[in-house]
Amino acid sequence: MKLYDAHNHLQDVRLGEDRAGMWGALRRENVALMVVNGTTEEDWPRVMELARSNPEVLPSFGYHPWWVRERSSNWEARLADCLDAVPSAVGEIGLDGWVKGHDLEDQERVFRTQLGMAAERNVPASIHCIQAWGRLVKCLDAGPRPACGFLLHSFGGPPEMIPDLAAMGAYFSFPGYYAHDRKIRQREGFLQVPPDRLLIETDAPDQSMPAERVTYPLPQTSDGKPVNHPANLGAVYQFVAEFLGCPAPELAGRVEANFKRLFGGIPRSAG
Ligand SMILES: [Zn+2]
Repeated sequence: MKLYDAHNHLQDVRLGEDRAGMWGALRRENVALMVVNGTTEEDWPRVMELARSNPEVLPSFGYHPWWVRERSSNWEARLADCLDAVPSAVGEIGLDGWVKGHDLEDQERVFRTQLGMAAERNVPASIHCIQAWGRLVKCLDAGPRPACGFLLHSFGGPPEMIPDLAAMGAYFSFPGYYAHDRKIRQREGFLQVPPDRLLIETDAPDQSMPAERVTYPLPQTSDGKPVNHPANLGAVYQFVAEFLGCPAPELAGRVEANFKRLFGGIPRSAG
């Protein structure tokens, strides 16, 4: 059973120095492909490096809404250079009306530019959205958006929007974080996701599962936040299979087909 991580941040320094150990765990868990998302100009070179040395890494470059304020005057040209240097997707991009000090007007300008770059290249975009769903739907509706589709990572929006979003080309990825009891609303939203649009993600090193479900624990960061190991992907699959009442091999087959439909246009030697 091969596993596919629709969204993580393998370049993140919080995953520690023991990279050989991390790759050992990923291979033990049979992780075939991972979409590794850059978030700022600073981490794009690290994503590039990972993609060049590991066939399991499907690189994605984008400005995360939390960091758009820090962008340089030539960020757009730097992003285009990354996208044109290796076969890659666009992300993590998006809109966030929850984070402290947000400026949604500015986020939207940067988001639209990046969505346009994905559309122009016809590569998938990985989208983060918190408390800005109306605005996001307007942007997607106005387009242009990638004809191959786009990912709503850690989807937690209103379930009644799912049919319209799916009609525009959305896929929805389920993070292990939604296994926490309090995440019942977000979890239950996934009961409305069409089976051919479901994906699974770790979002490592963010969004850890409850401690009792984690296969690979990592030390906490200094602020006490649990660090999520990317090889917990198998545990996320297991949780989603239980939650949806779907036999694990059937779920794995479905996720593989969905992943390949969305990201298959980006050539990698693994998978
Ligand atoms: Zn992320």
